[in-house]
Amino acid sequence: MKKETYSFKSEIKELLNIMINSLYSNKEIFLRELISNSSDAIDKIKFYNIKNKNNNINNLDQDYFIKIYVDNTNLVISDNGIGMTKKELINNLGRIAKSGTKEFLDKYVNLNKKNNVNMIGQFGVGFYSSFIVSDKVLVHTRSVIDEHGYLWSSNGHGKYTIINKFKDNIGTDIILNIKSSCKEFLDIFNIEKIVIKYSNYINIPIKLKYFNKRENKYIYKQINQSCALWIKNKKDITDKEYINFYNSLTNNLGNPLIWSHNKVEGKNDYISLIYIPSISPWNIWNRDEYKNGIKLYINKIFIMEGITKIVPFYLRFIQGIIDTNDLSLNISREILQDNSFINILRVSITNKVINMLNKLSLNKDKYCIFWKEFGNIFKEGLAEDEVNRYKISLLLRFCSTYNSSKNKYVSLEDYLGRMLPGQDKIFYIISDNYYSAFNSPHLEIYRKKNIEVLLMFNRIDEWMMSYLSDFKGIKFCSINKSDVNSNIITLNKSIIDCNNNNYNLDKFILRVKDVLFKYDIKDVILTNKLDIFPVVVTTSNNEISTQMSKLLSSIGKSVPKIKYLLEINPNHILIKYINSITDNNLFKKWVNYLFYQALLIETNSLDNPAKFINIINNILCKLIIK
Ligand code: ADP
Ligand code: MG
Repeated sequence: MKKETYSFKSEIKELLNIMINSLYSNKEIFLRELISNSSDAIDKIKFYNIKNKNNNINNLDQDYFIKIYVDNTNLVISDNGIGMTKKELINNLGRIAKSGTKEFLDKYVNLNKKNNVNMIGQFGVGFYSSFIVSDKVLVHTRSVIDEHGYLWSSNGHGKYTIINKFKDNIGTDIILNIKSSCKEFLDIFNIEKIVIKYSNYINIPIKLKYFNKRENKYIYKQINQSCALWIKNKKDITDKEYINFYNSLTNNLGNPLIWSHNKVEGKNDYISLIYIPSISPWNIWNRDEYKNGIKLYINKIFIMEGITKIVPFYLRFIQGIIDTNDLSLNISREILQDNSFINILRVSITNKVINMLNKLSLNKDKYCIFWKEFGNIFKEGLAEDEVNRYKISLLLRFCSTYNSSKNKYVSLEDYLGRMLPGQDKIFYIISDNYYSAFNSPHLEIYRKKNIEVLLMFNRIDEWMMSYLSDFKGIKFCSINKSDVNSNIITLNKSIIDCNNNNYNLDKFILRVKDVLFKYDIKDVILTNKLDIFPVVVTTSNNEISTQMSKLLSSIGKSVPKIKYLLEINPNHILIKYINSITDNNLFKKWVNYLFYQALLIETNSLDNPAKFINIINNILCKLIIK
């Protein structure tokens, strides 16, 4: 085959630019990425051999390793993993495999360079980091299904070439022609330090070529621990080892908040090591693509990761490994989805994670980190996992009027402990964001009476509440609704304090209705629940709420227009003033103004904001001219 030249997909060109500029201060991570690729390739060939050797694990004792050596101005990372065919070279090293990666990286790397470089490995672009330190990168590889090898090469400037080149063993050599400004990566002692720093717990021996003075020759020395950490006894593993292992497992996904390592013996034998991370993988909200972080091993051999059946979707943030002898090695993904042992694992992992979260919740600060990062995912469990619904509800956290900070949370048990004598409901409000919830007019009467209200403002909350009717027998009650029905809150006009007799409320209401008739509202009534606000709009219990309507329209569903109930505070000075206006035109303007402000507060936006502003300006101008 003669030399063939290809162009990188344009996204790669941009990516290389971003990467070279933003990772420059942390160049050494390229080694971690290349080692991790070699380790993946070795996992793959082990698995390939199992499948093709009739499941006989004893055929597997071939020695697998990663070798690193320096040769003039080259640093070489060599593995005897699965290798790549020509097609794979083009597909894997010429374009970005995962959709959306480029866009995300663009945003992410620019946001906060320092912290994010560590996460580069998660994006499926690790290979390209080799160009940070190299003038030229050569990949000499032979796939397990090929008779001969290929040499891929590129200087990272938009093009790469592929030629046939014999290779006597299966696997891949990555040859980096190190830039003259990066000579430290030709120093074998420096390389050793970097390998130990990042890759000590890679489950495959990493051998470094040294010159042995005594024997006067080069020898390969293994420099990493390379044992499956989870096989060791719990008491022989230090916290630091657990954390380092987590880092190599997850490509440096923050620090774990808590972990749990268990050996289960009985009907089924397995070992699990599960971590709860402190930050989420960037694509965790991509429901179609994101897979959970549990890797399945069978007798220390990596089989596959992200098996959806093993972990409920609402716990998809966990990371870790399961190792068992109870599954057949050549099990396929399809069979795994329907295997009774997998179902047992799922139940046991679920219980384990819930217990871990209970334990974590005793440390408020740490639990707060968990909740901020994963709370909205965890809430999905109320719908997904009916069996554990109560346990999940114990672990929920909410903002509340009890605190005045967005970053402080209360549990439902905290709430119950603070309920007033005679209080029969758990009150909550749903709004667009913390501030609009915290300052909502709906809260006025509750504040006045010292009744705590939970503040909900995440997209998922309205949906979540449809799965949560009560907690320990106490019903939930949304205060956005007009028909709040509780012992402790009485909302009706009979108790309204209107000792202002020259103020005919019934007539006033009729006049208001007359103006608002065209907006197709439900009704206009008086309320005693307001104080500094003159008006508020509510929906009734049997009707779709504002937030649900927004949620549905945001996913493209058509929703009927909400018919709001306008509630008026007759004691408000503005209302009293408006009632005294005889000029019908002016009265109309004021009433429109009231209605628009109530709508704005409830929905956080208006279809026609200019109209609202015009009304206000008009009223103000009239006042000035007068
Ligand atoms: P990721 O490892 O996240 O997939 P990389 O950019 O690190 O992204 O690597 C891209 C792809 O190139 C890998 O998924 C793999 O298919 C292939 N690859 C890289 N290095 C090797 C190697 N040493 N042996 C076999 N395949 C490799
Ligand atoms: Mg990689």
